[in-house]
Amino acid sequence: MTDLATAPANSPSDTDITDWDRDHNLHPWATTDSWRTDDYMRINTAKGIYVWDSTGKKFIDGPGGMWCVQIGYGRQDMADAIAKQVMEMPYASPWSSTSEPAAILARKIAEMTPGDLDTVFFTTGGSTAVDTALRTVQFYNNRLGRPEKKLIMAREKGYHGSTYLASSVTGKERFNTKYDNASDLVRFLPDVNPYGRPEGTTLDQWCDQKVADMEALIEREGADNIGAFIAEPILCSGGVIVPPPGYHKRTLDLCRKHDILYISDEVVTGFGRLGHWFASEEVFDIVPDMITCAKGLTSGYLPLGACIMSNALMKRMEDPTGEEVFYNGYTYTGHPVSCAAALKNIEIMEDEDILGHVQRVTPHFQDRLKAIGEKFDIVGDVRGMGLLGCIECRPDLPQDTFDAHLKFGAKLDMACEEMGLMLRPFGNMAVFSPPLIISKEEIDDMFDIMEAGLEKLSAEYN
Ligand code: PLP
Repeated sequence: MTDLATAPANSPSDTDITDWDRDHNLHPWATTDSWRTDDYMRINTAKGIYVWDSTGKKFIDGPGGMWCVQIGYGRQDMADAIAKQVMEMPYASPWSSTSEPAAILARKIAEMTPGDLDTVFFTTGGSTAVDTALRTVQFYNNRLGRPEKKLIMAREKGYHGSTYLASSVTGKERFNTKYDNASDLVRFLPDVNPYGRPEGTTLDQWCDQKVADMEALIEREGADNIGAFIAEPILCSGGVIVPPPGYHKRTLDLCRKHDILYISDEVVTGFGRLGHWFASEEVFDIVPDMITCAKGLTSGYLPLGACIMSNALMKRMEDPTGEEVFYNGYTYTGHPVSCAAALKNIEIMEDEDILGHVQRVTPHFQDRLKAIGEKFDIVGDVRGMGLLGCIECRPDLPQDTFDAHLKFGAKLDMACEEMGLMLRPFGNMAVFSPPLIISKEEIDDMFDIMEAGLEKLSAEYN
């Protein structure tokens, strides 16, 4: 630990920053054995799809920040829009007032969403957007006089955030945590990943099985006890898992049949990742009751999330007496500066046709990904959609093939970092979701480095 009394107060050296970060700044997902020893890479500057660390080394930002930097880094127009709002009016209490950016952004989002999803509740990020959706399920069913209809169906390997409710519906790593969850509120459906399905099972049969899993759960628990299903269109943190074709539509139909709300968690897939503002309708042909979003909404320039609700849902929650209060909100709900950043982000995406660009470069991105799957023996599966990708190690390799501690994802990330590409390791997988502005040539640079990294790992293995 650095000595607080003697530490210099200003002009810190590089070593000071490293020491202070290690000693005082607790990072998400820090492992308890190393949280006093890990030295995190310090990113000093960023531009376009590139970031530079404190030694001046340049990297392609494979994860796009944290699946969020759609328009790329270092945009002067974003800085100007943010600065202008800060000087005009940096904060307005959402309880007693509104602001121009919040009202304009809410209307803009209502125009972009499918169907009658026209009401926007602004939050501070993705977890609070999910929390808001889940609390709305409770409010809704209590309002309708059916307090027992509260169970949430969620999925193994799903990720929905880190607040109490959002982490309770998170299927990923739920057995591996020392936190308590609201487990009495949640029921998990088995893994939907087509990779690893029993040999000889077609994708259609796999889809039938996954729909049957949901039918069985509804039968077991009783539709009168189930309030909602929450699902990412693609399970991103779970390893970019794309459910089998037809799955989204058929599970929505089941929910409709049993008066179960459908929450589509588009925190990653929203705002262009698959070449559309939202993936629910345009890609998967569903119009859910609620959509949650965050991340790409501001391209990560400022924190902001939203829970978007359908008119039908709002209508059913109305109380003619006006006595019911929707007790949900944050000091920073509809924060004017975050909303101004989101508006500028959307304007940039429209002016520069970033959705069209994603649609144009996606086939090349996915072709290069597929080629990796065919070329490397150590790779078990590659999968993705839009500008999302995942490389998974062959499961039958001995546990300690790469390093009992580091695992394949971390080893591949390390090999690629040496050559100037950052990836996001998840156990035996590495995932990537670069800024949406990435050019075809930059996609080639990215995949060339990944191939070189995989060659290095293959040589170690053989
Ligand atoms: N939902 C999904 C699908 C996510 O991927 C994430 C974060 O990665 C969240 C919710 C939580 O968002 P946040 O970290 O902004 O709270």
